[in-house]
Amino acid sequence: MIKIIVAKNSGFCFGVKRAIEIAEKLSSGNKKSSNPIYTNGPIIHNPQVIKHLKTKGIITLQKSEDALDLKKGILVIRTHGIKKKFTTNLPPTVSVVDATCPFVKRAQEIVKKLNAEGRKVIILGDSNHPEVEGLLSYSDDAIVVKDLKDMKKIHITDREKIGFLSQTTQSTEIFHKISRYIKKIKPDALIYDTICRTTSERQREVEQLSRKCDIMLIVGGKNSANTQRLAEIARQYTITYHIETAREISKKWFNLKKNSVIGIAAGASTPEWIIKDVLKRVRYLTKQIQRSKSK
Ligand code: SF4
Repeated sequence: MIKIIVAKNSGFCFGVKRAIEIAEKLSSGNKKSSNPIYTNGPIIHNPQVIKHLKTKGIITLQKSEDALDLKKGILVIRTHGIKKKFTTNLPPTVSVVDATCPFVKRAQEIVKKLNAEGRKVIILGDSNHPEVEGLLSYSDDAIVVKDLKDMKKIHITDREKIGFLSQTTQSTEIFHKISRYIKKIKPDALIYDTICRTTSERQREVEQLSRKCDIMLIVGGKNSANTQRLAEIARQYTITYHIETAREISKKWFNLKKNSVIGIAAGASTPEWIIKDVLKRVRYLTKQIQRSKSK
């Protein structure tokens, strides 16, 4: 009998739930008004959710800078946050509702503090990610590293003081590796683990689950940093497919032995209905395969 296990920590995290609730509440209270609602880029990295929000009149701008050209409306700042002082440049007819995740806000405050202390700020992250672009704006000359190799390339003088933190959805394993290295070369460095708890819990659970599964399906936006990270972790232990919806699942993937285990986990920006769809499809296909094998 093929077993299917769904990770307990799957689907919307606290920050995403909060941002979507804020946007949906605005849209339902906005029915009679002609004030359009915008988000500065996708409110979360999940194309299916963005499509759903569009049906509720919530318009996704391509990039934050597009908000500068708006004539009027409400701009909802997404979970990843925005660059410091950005909103001060908006036309006065555009009001702002901040849905930045509080964990991202905390990371922004830490960068600000480290910068004020005159420390060289080093951020583990993806330099093109909107959250990291926002974090960088809180420092004069912060540096972004993506791994320990990158970190080792940075020239640090004897007099320089270091402050180290992470994009909220980075790998805890890489963060700890870099932290250990920094502590060795600069014992007085200030290190802040800003990876949010839901991210580290999901990573831990995906690692444990992948170790016992023959196949892992990681469900979530292909552009979602936290989902990509889950897929990278799972790939270290088993055959892994990163999918956005059930439609991508191929029957060929499940040509498994009896007693095989299939694991399903989802990123923090994946809605419950997509996870349910995936589970339904996997159940259906595995039953079909088992039936054909028993004939
Ligand atoms: S993954 Fe963490 S930091 Fe990102 S929105 Fe969710 S709770 Fe906030």
